[in-house]
Amino acid sequence: MGRLKEYIPIVGRGVIDDLRALAERLKGKTVQHINSTAVGGGVAEILTRMVPLFQELNLNTRWDVIKGGDKFFEVTKKFHNALHGRSEEINEDDFAVFMETSINNMNEMQYSGDIVYVHDPQPIALVQKKSDNKWIWRCHVDVSVPDRVVWEFLYSFIARYDAAVFSSPEFSSKIPIRQFLISPSIDPLSDKNKELPEDVINMVLEKYHIKKDKPIITQISRFDRLKDPVGVIEAYQEVKKYIDCQLVLAGGGATDDPEGIKVYEETKEKAGNDKNIHILLMSQNDIEINALQRASTVIIQKSLKEGFGLTVAEALWKGKPVVASAVGGIPLQIKHKYSGLLCHSVEGATFALKQLLNSPAYAKKMGENGKEHIKNNFLITRHLKDYMLLFLSLYCKGDVVYL
Ligand code: UDP
Repeated sequence: MGRLKEYIPIVGRGVIDDLRALAERLKGKTVQHINSTAVGGGVAEILTRMVPLFQELNLNTRWDVIKGGDKFFEVTKKFHNALHGRSEEINEDDFAVFMETSINNMNEMQYSGDIVYVHDPQPIALVQKKSDNKWIWRCHVDVSVPDRVVWEFLYSFIARYDAAVFSSPEFSSKIPIRQFLISPSIDPLSDKNKELPEDVINMVLEKYHIKKDKPIITQISRFDRLKDPVGVIEAYQEVKKYIDCQLVLAGGGATDDPEGIKVYEETKEKAGNDKNIHILLMSQNDIEINALQRASTVIIQKSLKEGFGLTVAEALWKGKPVVASAVGGIPLQIKHKYSGLLCHSVEGATFALKQLLNSPAYAKKMGENGKEHIKNNFLITRHLKDYMLLFLSLYCKGDVVYL
């Protein structure tokens, strides 16, 4: 694990000193994070790195994961899709399944935090255990145009929290509690993002039978329809008519996402027997993901909806030119034609891919600008600071902090 002082060469000593000063103000407080999966997806990715750093800052931090059966996660996946604007049939039984699992978790889990930090809709109902402590709801999903029925159901719980946190201004909505805008982050020292020797990158390519003889376009994502893997293949197939290239679609599942295998099958079918499409079903292996990103000529993230899109930040941090959909938190990371290219369709993605593949100097500049933008805005040190400022603000009345 990266120790705090190891971040100094990247972000400067002042940033780390600020973190220590803020943590000092919160001394004695306990923060409890709760989410629905220990591995897979962006939330687990961030908590894995953040919890030890908070502990190193002497801010007592723990992380608990709710338990749920297949039925529960099928329902929460439907909620997830509906919040993202997809039409889903959700009935009374689904809400009953959701509440039953929530009640089980309310009874089984210890709620010891002075601040309880609940991530996403799956554990949202636990707020019924709120006593005189502070509860925060952290929404990582794109709720710009949510399904009204699901949103109103969630709203009854959201209203009981002390504060809500969203990743992008467009996700904020009329709720009766304070709202904060805090973007997610990546950890430059994690296995996912650290520098890798060339031979490690080559070994990973060999393992997956990927040759370096033609440009590599890559999308790293869970196999989820909202990540549009089929759309990525369509864009690649168009590009391929003009530029000899290959496509890597790599991803694993998350324990709270039951649709992965189905979407993986759909993607395989779309790819047919094109030997230049590498569809890799990977277990959680950060070094391998890192290597694939670093080996790529261009990274694509053609999501239809996206909370933030950590994969975009990861790619930009590696100085890669990125083509990504202008959805959710992605435009916070990519300023069009400056730190990457935004797209709105398969055709747009095709055009942008061709442009980057045909102009290596332009692509290099996009990657360099992207890296600088991530360094200034989306590294974990900024995230730690924002979270501590948020915690302090919960104890503010007027100008006075009551800790
Ligand atoms: N990821 C991974 N293995 C995979 C697929 C994704 O480690 O097979 C990581 C990816 O590198 C990123 C996170 O999972 O760190 C996904 O976060 P993102 O915000 O892009 O999407 P989410 O899955 O949360 O919708």
